[in-house]
Amino acid sequence: MDVPMWIDGEPVETGEWIARENPARPREFAGRAVAGTAQDVERALSAARRAFPAWGQRPLGERVEMVRVAFLDALAEPATIGTTIAAEVGKVRDDAIGEVRYVRQLCEYYAAEAPRLLGPIETEDERGRIRRMHRPFGVVAAITAWNAPVILASLKAIPALMAGNAVVLKPSPLAPLAVTGLLCAVAARLPAGVLQVVHGDAEVGEALVSSSHVDKISFTGGVVAAGHIARSAAARLVPTLFELGGNDAALVLPDASLDEAMVERILFGAYLNSGQVCMAVKRVFVPEQQAEDFVERMRTVAARTLRVGDPQDPASTLGPVITRKDQRRLERLIASAEEAGGVVHRLGTDHIVDEDGYWVHPTLVTGLPDAHSLVCEEQFGPVLPVQTYTTVDEAIERINAVPHALGSSVWSADEEAAVALAPRLRAGFTFINSHNRSGMSLRAPFGGVGISGNGKEFGPEGLASYSYLHVAHTPHERAGGANAYPVLPDDG
Ligand code: NAD
Repeated sequence: MDVPMWIDGEPVETGEWIARENPARPREFAGRAVAGTAQDVERALSAARRAFPAWGQRPLGERVEMVRVAFLDALAEPATIGTTIAAEVGKVRDDAIGEVRYVRQLCEYYAAEAPRLLGPIETEDERGRIRRMHRPFGVVAAITAWNAPVILASLKAIPALMAGNAVVLKPSPLAPLAVTGLLCAVAARLPAGVLQVVHGDAEVGEALVSSSHVDKISFTGGVVAAGHIARSAAARLVPTLFELGGNDAALVLPDASLDEAMVERILFGAYLNSGQVCMAVKRVFVPEQQAEDFVERMRTVAARTLRVGDPQDPASTLGPVITRKDQRRLERLIASAEEAGGVVHRLGTDHIVDEDGYWVHPTLVTGLPDAHSLVCEEQFGPVLPVQTYTTVDEAIERINAVPHALGSSVWSADEEAAVALAPRLRAGFTFINSHNRSGMSLRAPFGGVGISGNGKEFGPEGLASYSYLHVAHTPHERAGGANAYPVLPDDG
């Protein structure tokens, strides 16, 4: 599959090509994308600037309906799009199809909520009338990661467009195919310049975020790229939304049942998409006395459910990792854990199709100090440390001792107690008796703090991120003169 860029209402099919190999069969190509240049980015941004006024002034209901119809039409064949995602990312096909179906639901959710959330709100009391109006920023530069290419791009494009912005999106060069197919189909149904797609690596990304045409930056990816973008945005005081990496802890409390269904949710919370999910479980904390039993239960459930193999095979539940570089990085991480005295348990079964693929066997590691990089850094692979604790206070202190603060989870028979404990965890989200895909909701705003980012995607806040509030105030009491503060009789 070859994909173009989409600039100013038409496909751009000439230029260098970015080839994307299939991580399960690296000698085969999943497809190619036309590589962009700084000039392409500038052309797209100028077109966005021209398109914005008319798009932003369209009646809200009309705009929302245009975006809804365009996305739903373009998402009409989840199986075809899912097959492409599986080929370029290596995630198993059913999971990839689920990603596409989820975007359909996201689109319906935002279309239903947008009129209420983005429409004007008027309040009036004896002091005056206040009208709150949501105004689009203008041109949004969106840059996304590869691990859930369609959902990550849609989480930005759908709300930003519905709010009235023009969007220029750069997907990751590691997964440009499915998302570009989708966005070109959407863009073709919208006025020229309203939605555009450019391709390239960091250099093209930097050209995009540093342009004076950009009014808002929305970024999903790693902390290093976010640092570059933040510096560029700061120079022009452009507002940013950052969705970055995590080192999510699952805190298993002493009263957690650890039945098979719960253990399976922890297992897939960690290993789904071979651990390459921002909100994956990346550390598990279990009470010391239950640790042996916990590891045994994880091994038993994994033997039944974790099957590493061809992502296109319906029997596979895990595919390869994204690049050779990541495969080598994870192998070194596991080797260093063994050298540091960690005990490495291999989980599940292998059904590898091509020895050359970027396979990393799912691995659970016990006996590591918290300071080991496998525990204190984001692994972003199928490698999970199990840490033991003696008191809950001690576990919370150790969980909070890492710089990442994205998600977290609490596992307990007492869900009220688990919710009450959640704010003690330094994170932007806490799943209760679930984690990762099993605990997701379109209605629950997700995002981190600190080096894990700012702001939220999903939920009402995910829509609100793409507009600013413009307020019109009609005071009933209009004071004049030098002492102009209005004072009402009951103000004392
Ligand atoms: P990355 O930062 O390497 O790349 C992300 C995007 O940024 C790509 O499109 C890349 O080309 C671009 N980019 C890289 N350097 C840039 C620069 N200097 N200027 C502008 N653009 C630049 O991240 P990745 O490897 O694609 O993704 C993995 C990371 O993303 C993990 O840390 C993961 O946890 C995180 N992630 C977070 C969320 C979330 O919602 N919080 C979701 C998915 C992934």
